[in-house]
Amino acid sequence: MNEFDLIAAIRRQTSTLPDNGFEGIGDDCAILEWGDEALVFTTDALSEGVHFLRHTTTPEELGAKSLAVNLSDVAAMGIRPIAVLLTLSLPRTIDEPWVLAFMKGFTDLARTHNVALIGGDTTRSEGEIQISVTAIGRGPKRSLKRRSDARVGDVIFVSDALGGSAVGLRDLLAGNHHTLSAQQHRTPQPEVDAGEWLGSRPEVHAMMDLSDGLWSDVRHILKASHVGATVELENIPIAEQATLRDAVTGGEDYRLLLTADQQAAEVLSFDFMARFGRPLYPIGRIVEGERLCWLKKGKPTTIDWQGFAHFSH
Ligand code: ADP
Ligand code: MG
Repeated sequence: MNEFDLIAAIRRQTSTLPDNGFEGIGDDCAILEWGDEALVFTTDALSEGVHFLRHTTTPEELGAKSLAVNLSDVAAMGIRPIAVLLTLSLPRTIDEPWVLAFMKGFTDLARTHNVALIGGDTTRSEGEIQISVTAIGRGPKRSLKRRSDARVGDVIFVSDALGGSAVGLRDLLAGNHHTLSAQQHRTPQPEVDAGEWLGSRPEVHAMMDLSDGLWSDVRHILKASHVGATVELENIPIAEQATLRDAVTGGEDYRLLLTADQQAAEVLSFDFMARFGRPLYPIGRIVEGERLCWLKKGKPTTIDWQGFAHFSH
């Protein structure tokens, strides 16, 4: 059973619970609309041995990353994160200087994005380090971007080159801890400003962040929106030293994947470039049906690469 089957089973089993006004499981965040505004909620955990190794990352980097992955999920909704809760489960081998260094990384990134730490929990762990962060975002209801809002004809964009994190992971596993890619893997930069900016643009329809890899993440939008897509392999922006395979299947880039009205797509990219000094990359189109078709020189091609999924081995 993979991660997505497990989540689907949990969803089915809990489907008779009340929603109490929330749009719950299925998007990057749960949504609570309130008048013209909305609050969004998300939580993500990092486990030692699964998401990081103690000897290949510093506590500062880990503090920053545990926050970054959550801020990324809020940004993917089109609004800003405002506050977080932090739960630390720590084995006896972790000392106070480690915790203070972890909190420095966490606090520096929180300050950069004006995010408050409003609570959490601290417990002893008998095994590995476990970190869990819950993030809350707030913004205008009209800015919300759901995975389910892609429309036939939309242009599919990614907000930056992909695959850098996969290269970094490879470097780390090979013992090369000091490469730029390894640094990028350990300290992803969430697209907080770009997410909010794209949220303010009505021509942006669906949006999510790329955490598992394009290969599986595009399918989340297609499934939620009941549409299909064509993606041009040549148009996928590839990070330095990465391969096309890294860009398609590599996880943890934390860039944005979005769809936008085709008529406004050019103006959108132009304005994005003017605001952020980098392009939005058009990689494909939303089409009818629920299939994802990879194109090479305009012709359908089959690739059998797998995205990163927990519990898949
Ligand atoms: P992301 O990669 O954006 O963090 P995930 O793939 O982790 O999203 O989760 C997909 C969806 O399933 C999200 O809406 C998330 O809130 C929900 N989800 C994941 N695990 C659970 C769980 N144990 N209980 C309830 N909802 C869950
Ligand atoms: Mg996400």
